[in-house]
Amino acid sequence: MMRVIFSIYIVVACLITSVQFLTEYLKTQDSILNELKQLEETVRGSISASFWQYDYNQMEVLISGLIKMPIIEGVDILDKNGNEIIAKRSYNPSSPPLSMFSTESKLDWKLKDKDISLGSLTLYSSSQIVLDRVLFGFTLIAITAIVKLSILFWLFIWAFDRYLSRPLKELVSQVDEIQLNQNMSKRIHLSAPEDNEIGQLQKHMNIMLSAIESDREKLLQDEKSKRNWLETAVEKRTEELLLLNKKLQYLATRDSLTGILNRGSFFETAQHLLALSKRQNSTATLVVMDLDKFKLINDNFGHFIGDKVLVHFAQTIQIFLRKSDLIGRLGGEEFAIFLPDTDINAAFQIADKIREAVSCSRLEVDGKTVTYTVSLGIDSSLQTDNLIEELFKRADLKLYGAKDKGRNRVER
Ligand code: GH3
Ligand code: MG
Ligand code: MG
Repeated sequence: MMRVIFSIYIVVACLITSVQFLTEYLKTQDSILNELKQLEETVRGSISASFWQYDYNQMEVLISGLIKMPIIEGVDILDKNGNEIIAKRSYNPSSPPLSMFSTESKLDWKLKDKDISLGSLTLYSSSQIVLDRVLFGFTLIAITAIVKLSILFWLFIWAFDRYLSRPLKELVSQVDEIQLNQNMSKRIHLSAPEDNEIGQLQKHMNIMLSAIESDREKLLQDEKSKRNWLETAVEKRTEELLLLNKKLQYLATRDSLTGILNRGSFFETAQHLLALSKRQNSTATLVVMDLDKFKLINDNFGHFIGDKVLVHFAQTIQIFLRKSDLIGRLGGEEFAIFLPDTDINAAFQIADKIREAVSCSRLEVDGKTVTYTVSLGIDSSLQTDNLIEELFKRADLKLYGAKDKGRNRVER
């Protein structure tokens, strides 16, 4: 870019210098022509007199004097018929000047108010003489042009660098830095701010950066509020799911009618407690219970009342249990309690209290009084018991015994 501008500048400067040189050349040529004419005016009278008097020697002397003058390259004197009388040249005939120019004037003699034509006088000068004169002026012009050119060039370079190149570089580097650090809060600050186009550009870029920053902040704010909303929604949903999960877990482990543990959950927990009591070398006791002739209750009072009896039974058992004891419905009208750290005698007492409480209870439903009894089989854990099923089988056998022996009793 700089090279193109400078080349154009040099071409224009050369053209202007050439025009100046040509003008100077033509002006000098004109002034030499004038000088030649003045010389002609000066010597014409003397030459005409010599011519009239046929005094060729004096004419020779006059012409020799003329030819010595620095601006004269040649002198011709012709008679009125155009015949050469004198022709002198100051240059070497083998190397004539490139171009010649001349002034010609008539030679005549006044006799009794009558002009008698004698011939003509021609004075020659050459381009070389013009150039010699112009050269000094032209050298001055050339030196001035070179000085002007150099000063202007360095001024241009300095101005270009100071007001365009340097601020632009600074601008670009600051924009790059902002882009690299993604720091939209930063603004462009030129070290030497000017009230020019670059200054305007800086101002507009800063306005643009402010707009980008506020857009970004708005976006971030939007994103933050969306994230907050999403986090709250997820938190709420997680809480709901946890609650639901707890509910499901509860439902999965509970018997829906009585609210106590179901068979699977009862056996699973009892298995843990059995392993624990085995580790602690303590005795645990399992009580298996089955309502007597429950089919008859269903038949006599209907399933609805049968269900009420089952719920009543579950509630009655719980009156006699500790917090650490486990109660479950094994299925139908069959229930069990696992009593950790309880030997068979203590368990027997609890079982018998249950049996008694049940046999004494009167259940009033829809104006009907329902009574029922329960048979119970109990057995305590052995150190050899690894599975709850082993203990259950023994207690269940005892329950069969209670049934065999007439029901409403506890067998151990
Ligand atoms: P036993 O003294 O020998 O145990 O006689 P039982 O009639 O109690 O024994 P059986 O196994 O013949 O009958 C149990 C009855 O329990 C049969 C069934 O209809 C009833 N039953 C089982 N589950 C439910 C229940 O959830 N609700 C009601 N109402 N009845 C049930
Ligand atoms: Mg049964
Ligand atoms: Mg039964």
